[in-house]
Amino acid sequence: MTTTVITGAGGGIGRAIATELADRGHRVVVTDVDLAAAEATVAQLSTQHVADHWARRLDVRDPRAAATVAEEVDAAHGLDAWVNNAGISAMVPFLDVEPAQVERTLSINLAAVFTCGQAAARVIARRGGGRIVNIASMAGKQGRVPYLSDYVASKFGVIGLTQAMAFELAEVGIRVNSVCPGYVATPMQDRELIWEASLRDTTTEAVRDLYLRDTPLRRLEEPRDVAKVVAFLLSDDAEFITGEAIAVNGGAFMD
Ligand code: NDP
Repeated sequence: MTTTVITGAGGGIGRAIATELADRGHRVVVTDVDLAAAEATVAQLSTQHVADHWARRLDVRDPRAAATVAEEVDAAHGLDAWVNNAGISAMVPFLDVEPAQVERTLSINLAAVFTCGQAAARVIARRGGGRIVNIASMAGKQGRVPYLSDYVASKFGVIGLTQAMAFELAEVGIRVNSVCPGYVATPMQDRELIWEASLRDTTTEAVRDLYLRDTPLRRLEEPRDVAKVVAFLLSDDAEFITGEAIAVNGGAFMD
């Protein structure tokens, strides 16, 4: 039985990852800055394989809280895997981005991947090995993205950090990979559609159409598209993959 912690899993992609992993027989520890949202995710997980999925409040900016979650889960079940999914975005033209926004974006999207990754790896290494997946972005591979400069910086950082973690943690048996989604229909995208429509002086429908036309497979990405790739990376089918940044974007960006 694999026990996996997911951050920011009170909605969007994190909730889809929790659902996919529970369906595949993982015990899932759903964490989010909003405990009620985490509990709502747990309430809809399959209990076919595991009856006791957990919900915990975790603000990923708090390294001590991350360590507590890792230790608590390990003591109860043994911690096998950790998914750093929590992330934020705000669309603002580069010249108008305030220092406080840069600090907030980098702290949640990048520094927290670092500190949560440490918390997870310390515990998983003690057990003799496991897996970590970091959710990066298509915007971690190309900066040609409007009004998301701080986000782009954070996600390029996640891909580099993933490689550094994979390199150092290989010797303690931990595989570390990142996943790079494209235009995923989540609450984050709903907010971005409104911001981008306003910044381009157009409608949200027109922006959504832009995303569609930018995607050769001609549909918006679903959270489950990402979740299935995370499940693969956590599985033994990926046992010789580490340090990778797997694109899952319908062809919207090919590198
Ligand atoms: P959502 O905003 O829909 O969900 C993110 C979740 O993270 C929310 O439940 C949010 O809580 C939570 N969260 C925010 N801040 C913190 C924090 N400090 N500690 C813990 N949890 C927190 O985003 P998505 O599901 O779309 O995104 C998930 C990941 O995928 C992110 O890393 C994002 O950058 C990445 N991604 C998303 C893409 C997309 O198109 N949607 C594309 C590429 C990558 P609350 O709602 O209460 O703030």
